[in-house]
Amino acid sequence: MTFAFYDTKPYDRESFEKISEKYGITFKFFADKLNINTAEFSRGCDGVCIFVNDTADKAVIDKLYELGVKAIALRCAGYNNVDVHHAFGKIHVFHVPAYSPHAVAEHAAALLLTSIRRIHKAYIRTRDFNFSLEGLTGFDLFGKTVGVIGTGRIGKAFINICKGFGMNILAYDKFPDAGLDVKYTELNFLIENSDIISLHCPLNNETHHLINSDAINSMKKGVVIINTSRGALIDANALLEGIKSRKIGAACLDVYEEEADIFFENFSGHIIDDDTIARLISMPNVIVTSHQAFLTNEALDNIAETTAENICEFFKNGYSKNELCYRCGKTADCGSGGRPQKCF
Ligand code: NAD
Repeated sequence: MTFAFYDTKPYDRESFEKISEKYGITFKFFADKLNINTAEFSRGCDGVCIFVNDTADKAVIDKLYELGVKAIALRCAGYNNVDVHHAFGKIHVFHVPAYSPHAVAEHAAALLLTSIRRIHKAYIRTRDFNFSLEGLTGFDLFGKTVGVIGTGRIGKAFINICKGFGMNILAYDKFPDAGLDVKYTELNFLIENSDIISLHCPLNNETHHLINSDAINSMKKGVVIINTSRGALIDANALLEGIKSRKIGAACLDVYEEEADIFFENFSGHIIDDDTIARLISMPNVIVTSHQAFLTNEALDNIAETTAENICEFFKNGYSKNELCYRCGKTADCGSGGRPQKCF
């Protein structure tokens, strides 16, 4: 089995080369992202292995199909960059549903603590032997209300961390988990009553710009917004306006809606064309990490193992348990008995 591996970074290559022999899969590594211009690289390959900022839209899927590619193996959980409906009957698509929800939840917590205790400022000061505390006053998390939007694997792990800090939790999910010991509310109530809002739902048509200017206007003054999910859950320009008007107290962003051409690359010494991200980064109360939340040793090993298992299972049985349903967008839990192509 040969897979064209797009958007390769050194840490990806290391974790996938480790397991390549064990699973009998040859990966052809390419630094470029998958798009209509690079789809040709997969000629002669059984499948493509892609990440969050690769593009598998209708045109790319048609091109891959024409080249004889049978599978798209996403080495991530989110799949908003793949037109799964269009892939139906042409190319099988599977993802890695969970590789370490803790990695992402802990990163969200790290961003929150860094931001509200001004660790990013203190770090730079003390390296310059500036031991002044001026402007570093933070606030306690204990007793504060955190609103968690999306209570799946990562949302649950984040809720547990917040409970450890003695915070009150408000939760919103389109499909609430009755077994979860948490207070579910309407989305508007959560938005209006949270001191901190953390996003853990997927990006889709319903959640695109979930945090827009209307939502921001109804938030508490000084609210802290954390996004470790997908950039386009937030209207970045509305966020910027909310920060400029002092409505938003802080923003912690691991994702950005226009990140595809920026994140994961080194632009130091270059002029950044995107004024919105440049302005956001210039703000003292905004912390941006470059889609880094997943990046732990444990997660990288789990990603490589599960991706390889998905590929082997698909070529052995004709489907994978982590295949996406082309109708409902879920995996085996859609009721198709583990064969999502049968969900129709
Ligand atoms: P999950 O599928 O376990 O949980 C997602 C939850 O969102 C589910 O409970 C679902 O019911 C809920 N949901 C679906 N539609 C909703 C809606 N319209 N409104 C509110 N809730 C809705 O997924 P997960 O593993 O917890 O991952 C969550 C997201 O985190 C992924 O979609 C992905 O985009 C993102 N992610 C980011 C990184 C990173 O490195 N920054 C890494 C992994 C995942």
